[in-house]
Amino acid sequence: MTDKRIPFNWPYMTGKELHYIADCHHHGQLAGDGPYTQRCHGWLEQHTGCAKGLLTHSGTAALELAALLLDFAPGDEVIMPSYTFVSTANAFVLRGVVPVFVDIRADTLNLDERLIEAAITPRTRAIVPVHYAGVACDMHNIMTLAQRHGLKVVEDAAHGAMARYRGRSLGSIGDVGAYSFHETKNLISGEGGALLVNDQTLTSRAEIIREKGTDRSRFFRGEVDKYTWQEAGSSLLPGELIAAFLWAQLEEAEHITRRRLEIWQRYYQLLAPLEQAGMVRRPIVPADCDHNGHMFYVLLAPALDRQRVLAECRRQNVSVVFHYVPLHSSPAGRHYGRTHGELTVTDTLSERLIRLPLWVGLSPAQQEKIVAVLTMAVGSTN
Ligand SMILES: *Cc1c(COP(=O)(O)O)cnc(C)c1O
Repeated sequence: MTDKRIPFNWPYMTGKELHYIADCHHHGQLAGDGPYTQRCHGWLEQHTGCAKGLLTHSGTAALELAALLLDFAPGDEVIMPSYTFVSTANAFVLRGVVPVFVDIRADTLNLDERLIEAAITPRTRAIVPVHYAGVACDMHNIMTLAQRHGLKVVEDAAHGAMARYRGRSLGSIGDVGAYSFHETKNLISGEGGALLVNDQTLTSRAEIIREKGTDRSRFFRGEVDKYTWQEAGSSLLPGELIAAFLWAQLEEAEHITRRRLEIWQRYYQLLAPLEQAGMVRRPIVPADCDHNGHMFYVLLAPALDRQRVLAECRRQNVSVVFHYVPLHSSPAGRHYGRTHGELTVTDTLSERLIRLPLWVGLSPAQQEKIVAVLTMAVGSTN
């Protein structure tokens, strides 16, 4: 094992995926919104308590559906962290909306709720919290602020399936929330996602926009006798084969989450000495957050050279990776967005972060090797 490369990610499959796909094949159910999609929708609604769960073909598509649904005008603004995936901003930029980047908290790397109010202008329409690593943003203060200023809240819960904040599922707290089922997430369908619609007044339009701007979903339920073009929309739904794959994952969501949390917890314990030595900082999870073991990262001490630590770990066959390049420092981020205030925490912590392999099936021995290699790499670059 010692000379075998430990991959950063390895998709976990339950074993039932092909069985459910064969079932679709057998019944000739290939287009979207068939029985497996309905099952997934039911799971989303029961599990998260959202008013409507809608599968999309990616987390990106879920965010785009959110942006279409909320109907903002060009020049409107949404407040979000810069430390996130491009899709968080892209979905709004495609509508002509300006992302306004605010700094993150040093403990969770989530949008710093204390900095939001000062970034609000007469054009602000929404706050877009991203629950990094499945650890919730301070949703209590974010929702209070949004209500006070009449803003929408779009949760980017791409990392957040099965994670909770004060007992509530991530993605079910704001007006809408987006999940991703990309291969690198906890629950997967290759590419895939879902929009959780929590505001009851938005559910029927969300269905319409997702189905090419038509009331086809109502037609299928027998509520109208023909379906027609109702408003501007797109085709954002996955086919049944993807939904069938996803259903196998959702059935085992508890099991998958438990196993990821065990791995996370083991890293946390194994890395205590390195933290005590002042070499790394482990993740901090606030008391009101139940995370889902989506990611384990460490923040290197400022004096350490991340490039060299990464290179040394890879040389020892341990695949460790950095994460987001802050959007405000990217060409498109500079062109389409603007920053509010200094993004000092974003700039400094994003350059010190390393993610460790975390996937169902990673063995305790592999974790010990990873921590030993990291410890050596950190020592040799100090
Ligand atoms: C993965 C991810 C997305 C996009 O999801 P896809 O399913 O890959 O389109 C959006 N936001 C964040 C924070 C993500 O990590």
